[in-house]
Amino acid sequence: MTSAIKLGLVGFGKIARDQHVPAIAMTEGVELVAVASRNNHLEGLAAYTDIDALLAGEPDLDAVVLCQPPQVRYEAARRALAAGKHVFLEKPPGATLSEVEALMALADQRGVSLFASWHSRYAAAVGQARAWFEGRTLRRADIAWKEDVRHWHPGQTWIFEAGGFGVFDPGINALSILTEVIRDGVLLTEADLETPSNRQAPIAATLAMQSASGAPIAAVFDFRQTGPQTWDIRFETDDGVLVLSEGGNRLAIDGAPQAVGAEGEYPAMYRRFAELVRGGKSDVDLAPLRLVADAFLRGRYRPTEAFID
Ligand code: NAP
Repeated sequence: MTSAIKLGLVGFGKIARDQHVPAIAMTEGVELVAVASRNNHLEGLAAYTDIDALLAGEPDLDAVVLCQPPQVRYEAARRALAAGKHVFLEKPPGATLSEVEALMALADQRGVSLFASWHSRYAAAVGQARAWFEGRTLRRADIAWKEDVRHWHPGQTWIFEAGGFGVFDPGINALSILTEVIRDGVLLTEADLETPSNRQAPIAATLAMQSASGAPIAAVFDFRQTGPQTWDIRFETDDGVLVLSEGGNRLAIDGAPQAVGAEGEYPAMYRRFAELVRGGKSDVDLAPLRLVADAFLRGRYRPTEAFID
């Protein structure tokens, strides 16, 4: 039996605690041996304050998992790759396209695996949606991704800072599903970005996109949703309507709910990461990040009411 891939995790915050630690524990072939975080630690594990201390203190690490906010992820990834470690990037894989392209080149040069994880692509119903869509032609698609930022991101000031993505932090999950199902290219044509007067990143966005064959794709992202939360995508094709809801975890075809798989997003991603490392491969798809960059390039910026957390 091959030995487990030894992981060090950087940025021990909400997602690390909620998802990464339990997923690693339930995945064969990966083992968490140390954590690097400025203010947090995990009981019983070696603790460091930053990536340099982690790399120096744990020379036997095989891979590094980066769970900090996107603004600081590139520098840590660069150091880990330069030290010859495989790297698992939380989403979004960086704050800019050029950062992630530089990481891809470095991973290649060092002969290690780079994984740009898109957790929503591993949601229970997304694989089935993709398979159903093959051979069908899109007529139109509509995305509604609306959640309460105060509930899901309490105290996360980085999210509204430059490079924090604002409402595109969850919105990019919808775009990751969209570009997983529609594989032949999605083009962004218009973006309307509502940005609080006291913040640097949008709190709501309306996007107009189109498929390669010109079918319209509309998206509404909103961080101000109270009450029921909405993470839905509706695909209308020449041969039926498919609706993904609950962030890709529920599926209905022509109104009929379908049974979906049971594996969680994060265990599936760790299985994938272990396969990549053992197979000497990388997996970096920039399509979701490119659409966000395009929205920021094309966007009409509309100042809106100040956001007080
Ligand atoms: P978080 O809890 O605010 O941040 C994670 C940790 O990163 C923090 O606890 C902090 O640990 C460290 N950190 C924060 N700001 C930093 C900075 N400026 N420099 C260095 N380290 C910093 O955020 P999160 O919710 O876990 O999200 C982290 C990433 O995971 C984001 O890219 C997000 O999109 C992604 N993600 C989040 C969720 C979710 O539901 N929350 C879901 C999927 C993916 P220390 O202070 O101890 O260093």
